[in-house]
Amino acid sequence: MSKILIVEDEVAIAELEKDYLELSGFEVDVENDGMTGLARALAEDFDLFILDLMLPGIDGFEICKQIREKKNTPILMVSAKKDDIDKIRGLGLGADDYVTKPFSPSELVARVKAHLSRYERLIGSSVVENDIIEIRGIKIDKTARRVWINGEEKQFTTKEFDLLTFLAENPNHVYTKEELFREIWDMESIGDIATVTVHIKKIREKVEMDTSKPQYIETIWGVGYRFKL
Ligand code: CA
Repeated sequence: MSKILIVEDEVAIAELEKDYLELSGFEVDVENDGMTGLARALAEDFDLFILDLMLPGIDGFEICKQIREKKNTPILMVSAKKDDIDKIRGLGLGADDYVTKPFSPSELVARVKAHLSRYERLIGSSVVENDIIEIRGIKIDKTARRVWINGEEKQFTTKEFDLLTFLAENPNHVYTKEELFREIWDMESIGDIATVTVHIKKIREKVEMDTSKPQYIETIWGVGYRFKL
């Protein structure tokens, strides 16, 4: 989860920003004082800073400058005056974006998201690509645990998903029902290998055009099942 620090002396504005960002799934800390804000910005790991320009003690210009000397973290400057924004741009303090008060919370959230994703692309590490398996018409997103059949998303139970994924990851390998049961259900599970048959039937109803002529999960009579590549 991305962590954001807001440095803003107007408590109501800070809370509004915090609420909206938290609703969008961010972790948000607020400091109402410039010095404390700067100290935390330098000492702790945040993914983005939102700095108000006019703060008691030390202003947003100075905080921005000092953060930039140490970190590449995105900085979004907030100001009540449009003139100030031209001034900040002119100073080249290294802020990534500028927002004028009053702004709509959704605009702020959109900008935060844009800067975070740009920064993550830049550093490359914190964005983990989803693990996807694609075989003919089946697309399995292992990370999100979602399945699409010919572009249409289908709902699978946990075990159906695990079983389908296991077979699709090991195509052309014939597994007995016992092996599949051991693989997908732990030994303590209540149930038996008939559970495997039931789950295969449910999966086929979702993935196969014609369950009597399976194109994906084949029955190898007297042995078990395999995912046909
Ligand atoms: Ca202020």
